[in-house]
Amino acid sequence: MSGLDHRLRVLRQYVRDGAPALRTAAQELDAHPDGSTLYPQVPLLDRLATLQIPSRHARNPLVIEGHAYYLTSAVERVVFHEEAAAHGDAALLLSAPGSLTAGMLVTALGDDEQQRVFFDRVQARPTWTFLAMTEPQGGSDAANLRTTLTPCDGGYRLNGTKRFVGNAHRSPVGVVTARTGPGPLGIRCALVDTSDPGCGTGPIATLGMRGVLGTLDFQDVRVPESGLLGRHLSPTRRGMWGWLHSFNPLRCVAAALGVGIARAAYDYARHHASPQGGTVALSLDTLGARIRGVQGLTRHAAAAVDADPANAHLPAAAKNAAAHLAVEATSTALRLLGPGARLEHPLLDKWARDAFGIEYMEGTSHVQAQSVFNALARTGTAPR
Ligand SMILES: Cc1cc2nc3c(=O)[nH]c(=O)nc-3n(C[C@H](O)[C@H](O)[C@H](O)COP(=O)(O)OP(=O)(O)OC[C@H]3O[C@@H](n4cnc5c(N)ncnc54)[C@H](O)[C@@H]3O)c2cc1C
Repeated sequence: MSGLDHRLRVLRQYVRDGAPALRTAAQELDAHPDGSTLYPQVPLLDRLATLQIPSRHARNPLVIEGHAYYLTSAVERVVFHEEAAAHGDAALLLSAPGSLTAGMLVTALGDDEQQRVFFDRVQARPTWTFLAMTEPQGGSDAANLRTTLTPCDGGYRLNGTKRFVGNAHRSPVGVVTARTGPGPLGIRCALVDTSDPGCGTGPIATLGMRGVLGTLDFQDVRVPESGLLGRHLSPTRRGMWGWLHSFNPLRCVAAALGVGIARAAYDYARHHASPQGGTVALSLDTLGARIRGVQGLTRHAAAAVDADPANAHLPAAAKNAAAHLAVEATSTALRLLGPGARLEHPLLDKWARDAFGIEYMEGTSHVQAQSVFNALARTGTAPR
């Protein structure tokens, strides 16, 4: 699937109309990344905050021209995020309230009551949430995490440290991965309230995607039994299995953000580079063709994940391609605008810094390449 049907085109147009309002706020966040309460009253972000919620819990789906959108399918998420990054800003999207990552885990692993409580909270007012997996000693090797959940007083005590977590420093609640025992079956996910005693948070200064990332430190944070996700699932389904599947749609979203950044840079260069002839035109034509290719792959991956949530290799391939594309497009645009472009075009400079963040979100290119290789080795053919 690379073309969009009428319903998805309607969604894309809605996002396209609302996204330009993100840009001023995005530059503000880039300049003042520690303004942790900075939250622009942009209709598109307000709307996003109460989407990505399963239909049985969603009170207020987006309705345009008679079509209802929950933004729970990978395809809808990809269309929304690509367009909002292309006409608005990817970093601002990632720093906005809502339940993109945590909501995915709560949906995959939470029982009915846990889902109801979490999604009611998110819908009561714009609420930031997080999914905390990465630890200081390394994020790629997620199975080797060291944060622990130890049984105690009818609940658990949470101890450990998480790093590079989106919105950790501004969220009242989120999902934390931690170890209850050895091996892959000993990894669980818990809902954690950051106002609970023993929980510390703070921002992380970064060059790109400024204002997005934060840290979490847990010292004997009490997690009630009701906070442990997956208690109604079999031991093989409630830990790594659940969150590994959640990564497949999330990787499509990361790819869509990469394509969006590339499109933003491409449009910027088309508008500002002069003269529009010879080498410049050739560079832009080549870049435009690359963007269309990765955009098609990303949409194809999203459709594949919606059909089979266990499909890991297509999202991995799309995420890998989009991470490289975002860097290539922003670098090309800077080059076409000549020496001094970073100073003269601060928005483009920002996207060029942000582009490197796509490489790390939801796993680096090495990790994605392993996923594609595994599918290739399993099937003995180029996976589709
Ligand atoms: C914008 C952004 C948003 C993020 N959001 C979140 C979030 O919400 N929650 C969260 O938990 N984390 C988040 N992260 C962190 C992200 O998931 C990690 O940065 C990522 O998993 C890589 O982990 P690491 O940085 O510790 O690098 P490492 O895992 O230490 O890897 C370092 C280098 O070694 C390579 N490498 C590692 N293992 C292998 C291997 N087996 N084979 C080959 N090469 C390997 C990697 O590719 C990389 O180049 C975010 C990061 C960014 C940039």
